Amino acid sequence: MFRQDGLHGIPGGCGQTEAKFMPLKVEESLKGHVHSYESMGAVDGPGLRFVVFLQGCPLRCQYCHNPDCRDPSKGRILSVHEVMSEILHHLSFLQTGGVTLSGGEPLLQHRFAAALLQACQAQGLHTALDTSGFCTLDHAADALDHSDLVLLDIKSFDPARYWELTHVDLGTTLRFAEELKRRHKPFWLRYVLVPGLTDDLQSIRELSQYLADFPSLERIDVLPFHKMGESKWEALGYPYQLKSPPPPDESLVREVMDIFKTAGRPVFS
Ligand code: SF4
Repeated sequence: MFRQDGLHGIPGGCGQTEAKFMPLKVEESLKGHVHSYESMGAVDGPGLRFVVFLQGCPLRCQYCHNPDCRDPSKGRILSVHEVMSEILHHLSFLQTGGVTLSGGEPLLQHRFAAALLQACQAQGLHTALDTSGFCTLDHAADALDHSDLVLLDIKSFDPARYWELTHVDLGTTLRFAEELKRRHKPFWLRYVLVPGLTDDLQSIRELSQYLADFPSLERIDVLPFHKMGESKWEALGYPYQLKSPPPPDESLVREVMDIFKTAGRPVFS
């Protein structure tokens, strides 16, 4: 996922002391690969969030902020119970926000993601799923059942440009969006604005028209591209492809926000 703040917080690990929580009918012993936690996330859903970044992503976004999240074999292997113990240490501030699963692509570990979301809901916590939507609907079903909100990235509405940016096809994400509509699932659309790559205004108009037909879409976030992930790419020995574009200027951001307002939803940046 694309982080505005460039931070990932605490490396994945369970807390020093064991927190007690309600017995659950979820697979508490199920294990997954966890990249890290962020304990006071303010940009990944409503209120203050505990953000769990899961390891692994099938996309290869040129502007990826978290290239160290890509490899599904990395990260710490933790059980649902261990992650919940960490989350429940932060209960005091989570009452005004909740828990967000991000990554990487959290649905790459769809069973683990679904079990974590279910465990959070069982504690009365609001849950959000931050996803590219690149997942089969079968695999996404349980995680969606236990998500109160979805943060959906559509990285471009032009299929060729989407492929160039991510190396996967746009159709899978659009099918995921249609599933959100079918389920009346509340969601926020997130659009990363990269000069020269995702600033084609005609394509953005088409995306805005498309989104107008999604009653459960609550808001649109325009996220101006920045290069805060560049040092991670270099540390991993990956060639960073976006050395040239500067962050979008304010007038471009405003123009894109105005276009998205035609979808009839609040637009933020
Ligand atoms: S979807 Fe994957 S490759 Fe793309 S920005 Fe997010 S973590 Fe990086």
